[in-house]
Amino acid sequence: MCAYTQDSLSQQRNHLSQKPYLFLTDMTANHIKNCPICNGNHLIHKLSYTDNISSHTFEILQCSDCGMLITQHAPGLSELSQYYPDKEAACYKQPQDKVGKWLLRLHNRWNKEQVRIVCEEAERQSGVLLEMGCKQGHFANTIRNSGWIAHAVEQDNTAREYANDRFQLQAESVEVLFNIKPRSYNVVVAWDTLGESYDLHRTIEHLSQLIVSDGTLIIAFHDASCNEAKCAGSNWQGWDAPRKRWHLTPEAFERLAEQHNLVITNRRNSLLRSFITTLTTLMASNPNKKFLATLCDSFFRSFKNSDTYYIYTIQKRQ
Ligand SMILES: [Zn+2]
Repeated sequence: MCAYTQDSLSQQRNHLSQKPYLFLTDMTANHIKNCPICNGNHLIHKLSYTDNISSHTFEILQCSDCGMLITQHAPGLSELSQYYPDKEAACYKQPQDKVGKWLLRLHNRWNKEQVRIVCEEAERQSGVLLEMGCKQGHFANTIRNSGWIAHAVEQDNTAREYANDRFQLQAESVEVLFNIKPRSYNVVVAWDTLGESYDLHRTIEHLSQLIVSDGTLIIAFHDASCNEAKCAGSNWQGWDAPRKRWHLTPEAFERLAEQHNLVITNRRNSLLRSFITTLTTLMASNPNKKFLATLCDSFFRSFKNSDTYYIYTIQKRQ
């Protein structure tokens, strides 16, 4: 049974009694020497990735011991705003062209699929849910419209303000996450946002504490070891560096869950999510190709490589 039913996340804080966490500190020149999963120091150059928002290039490293991938020198919190889209970006506007409308339709379908996944995995049709990293708030709004109480945190100020203005979500900044009382939610979800946290261990540990004893934690991520990532290289849209610091693989994530005594009860993938990622990857790889041809290519490739995006259902060990 969930302890809270209020609409405002601020009512669930522990009133700032704790010190700021590592999560909040400015980690400028964040030089990673050891893998956060296995603590190994055999980090080798995987590829160079140029962020299309800042045009800055980042090195992606791979741990040769466990396969985990890492963005080297990801920016600190105080620098992060320049790496998010500004208010003039396409994601804040209603698309006028055919391609934009197609992508919007696909994302709307994905939001509905996310709601279905939550209901199936949690085995309930309503409840109190927290989303870590809600971006512009589309999923949180969709599940709220399905009868859930949805709370959200988001570290991008522009996205959070948009979510609050457009959907009245009352999303809060991400530092609030660590001030929420344990056992507050039936479901906690992180749709490809665990990799954005500064401290993987502290974050997953805290997320697992936020669910009630029979609650459900859903962690989804683009698999950095998938065939699409190998084929597309730096054009793969799953990298999303430097916003994403940690690029998970199934092996690395399952090891992380084990380290925190969490039980993985299900693992599934999403053909639709894989299709969207493949489509945007192919559009970035060859922007001059006709959209219909790119659409067809994406369709066949995502059928062939449907393992691009994994969704894990996790429960606490009883
Ligand atoms: Zn490792």
